[in-house]
Amino acid sequence: MKRSKIKSLYAAPPVGQSVNVMGWLKTRRGGKKFSFAEVNDGSTIKNLQIVLDNSRFDEETLKQLTTGACVSITGNLVESVGQGQPIELHAETVTIFGPSDPETYPLQKKAHSLEFMREIAHLRPRSTTFGCILRLRHAMAYGIHRFFHEKGFFYVHTPIITASDCEGAGEMFTVTTLDLAAPPKNKDGQVDFSADFFGRPAHLTVSGQLNAELAALALSDVYTFGPTFRAENSNTTRHLAEFWMIEPEMAFYDLHDNMALAEEMLRFLIRLALEEHYDDLDFLCATYDEELIPRLKSVVESPFERCDYTRAVEILLHSGQSFEFSVEWGADLQSEHERYLVEKHFQKPVIVYNYPKDIKAFYMRQNDDGKTVAAMDVLFPKVGEIIGGSQREERYDKLLERIRQMGLPEENYWWYLDTRRFGSAPHSGFGLGFERLLTFLTGMGNIRDVIPFPRTPGNAEF
Ligand code: ATP
Ligand code: MN
Repeated sequence: MKRSKIKSLYAAPPVGQSVNVMGWLKTRRGGKKFSFAEVNDGSTIKNLQIVLDNSRFDEETLKQLTTGACVSITGNLVESVGQGQPIELHAETVTIFGPSDPETYPLQKKAHSLEFMREIAHLRPRSTTFGCILRLRHAMAYGIHRFFHEKGFFYVHTPIITASDCEGAGEMFTVTTLDLAAPPKNKDGQVDFSADFFGRPAHLTVSGQLNAELAALALSDVYTFGPTFRAENSNTTRHLAEFWMIEPEMAFYDLHDNMALAEEMLRFLIRLALEEHYDDLDFLCATYDEELIPRLKSVVESPFERCDYTRAVEILLHSGQSFEFSVEWGADLQSEHERYLVEKHFQKPVIVYNYPKDIKAFYMRQNDDGKTVAAMDVLFPKVGEIIGGSQREERYDKLLERIRQMGLPEENYWWYLDTRRFGSAPHSGFGLGFERLLTFLTGMGNIRDVIPFPRTPGNAEF
């Protein structure tokens, strides 16, 4: 018999028919004559109730029906007379694929702390919470591709390994095949990377942007969606060493077009989650954060605020708040400042734009005031910065001037500068941190709980 997924049984119950389900037992209650089990196969948050007439099964099978065991059950699907579920399965045959010792199985029915679950990341996908998170993670990945596809964007694959050394050093992981115990040295005693795999130092990418720009200057509208790596040693609830980033890049977009796209995309994604994944959100809302669904709805309903950086500084200076980091024009906004703007002052998502050029990257377009660049950050309640983007500097002379002023190795940028020499175009783009989006969407307080296997300083076990 063909296996049915539990989600499809709820969607259109074949009542009165024989069906087969496979999955993991969430609970099992035994009575003298009947036993009840809850099976989940991950297709939905919903479990299927299994009713077993004890007299039909041997002792050993009944004994192995414990929390965590993996089973295949065939029987008759009926409308449930009990409260709490519309359908149940009256078991006729039971196969135990994998028993699970109830004494030692770490994920018993009682609620575990999120910290404990991080220590059992190999098993936490089986918990109700991580089932919800993983389904929502998939939904958002799918939604991102759908959003861009429907707008005529093309998905480009930018490299994971970069040897161009363009992206700002410091926080990059090195990729090498050299023998670390005895690397070849040059006559100055430094590691000789010309003997390395790529003939030069190579790193894991911190962003696909520069490569995405190359594609946008041919296909007009493109995006990348891939893993990025940052060796920043910041043990925060908002940073991972390996995270996924969505980076659209659009020819002929100015900063305001860029902001409009970012807003449209975020609202599309959150609406999609509310419309198509409500039961997962509902569980997370009830279990962890009762403000979650109201917060998501408010983002879908109210337009984002646009606020010039200079005005944001004014607002913060007049806020009467005492911040840990002081506020002054020219300094970057800290998380506490961002959250004040979003949560207290505007009470909705805010896009701050036109930042001082000295705190932003070389490729951002210089404004006519000589002090600011056409940068924008989208700030969200609870998570702070979720998107960083800009209009890119398309003027060859201005770009080169910036590279020199910032003391960057000009020779490494020849190919990037070439795009400004041949058919340059005004263009813009941004980076959305996928896990920041998911922390917002799921209400999880820690970014380590929205990626299956988090990489953070000292942590790469699973
Ligand atoms: P932050 O100041 O919050 O550390 P950033 O300004 O360094 O972020 P960008 O270089 O602008 O980040 O990257 C674009 C987006 O990628 C950010 O808006 C954020 O959503 C996400 N992001 C950046 N660093 C991380 C990280 N270490 N872990 C998870 N997401 C990140
Ligand atoms: Mn940023």
